[in-house]
Amino acid sequence: MTSRNVLVTGGNRGIGLAIAERFRDQGDAVVILSRAGEDVAGMPAVAGDVSDSDSVKKAFKEAEEKLGGPMDVVVANAGITDDGLLMRMSDESFDRVIDTNLAGAFRCARAATTGMIRRKGGRLIFVSSVVGLYGSPGQANYAASKAGLVGLARSVARELGGRGITANVVAPGFIETEMTYSLPEDRQKAYRDAIPAGRFARPDEVAAAVTFLASPEAAYINGAVVPVDGGLGMGH
Ligand code: NDP
Repeated sequence: MTSRNVLVTGGNRGIGLAIAERFRDQGDAVVILSRAGEDVAGMPAVAGDVSDSDSVKKAFKEAEEKLGGPMDVVVANAGITDDGLLMRMSDESFDRVIDTNLAGAFRCARAATTGMIRRKGGRLIFVSSVVGLYGSPGQANYAASKAGLVGLARSVARELGGRGITANVVAPGFIETEMTYSLPEDRQKAYRDAIPAGRFARPDEVAAAVTFLASPEAAYINGAVVPVDGGLGMGH
């Protein structure tokens, strides 16, 4: 397989880092978009904040300079939570989560598109969550943002599918990361009990689905939601 140019947002830690490392290990040229913009594990980084359009545009331009051409693969992974019960959730909390998780992914997809059209192909992969389609008490903002990624990906798939560009969603379940371990202990146990696999996933199990969707073998998969959740969402 020839080396592709890959950009991973939020690739400096957690699931994003596992994704970036997997692409790197299979021989792709990887650039990480992170707020700090510091190189990670031997991979170059560009500074960017996905909640800011100008910052995203600038980061993509820098990434193209660093890798010597447009991106072939963009993984919109950056995401935040700001949990709270609906009755107490502020407008600010709702907007902030949507702006980072959903609008941030939109800004990155938009920034990647010109280069992908020029290259006559590309792969957009949006990192959603099982809770986007399953729902989660206390996460109205987060679940809405993650469900929104499905509509975003499917619209892009319809718009750009004829140009060799695919847009797919990976929906992880509960992964062994800070985000999961910051949930209350009783909620963690309830989820573990509900997951047919009986365990949380390793970040590299999410990365495997992402690199598959970016591979030539996945050229005919478009607008799909691929769950990596141990069966929790039963295929949602
Ligand atoms: P982490 O909290 O470990 O990492 C989140 C990443 O997103 C960090 O790199 C962070 O950068 C980056 N980020 C946040 N806001 C911005 C921003 N405005 N601009 C640029 N980068 C930003 O999360 P995980 O690795 O756990 O999760 C990664 C993705 O997977 C998220 O989209 C999450 O919703 C999703 N997910 C996670 C699950 C889990 O169990 N952990 C389950 C399902 C989905 P910085 O270092 O600057 O903060």
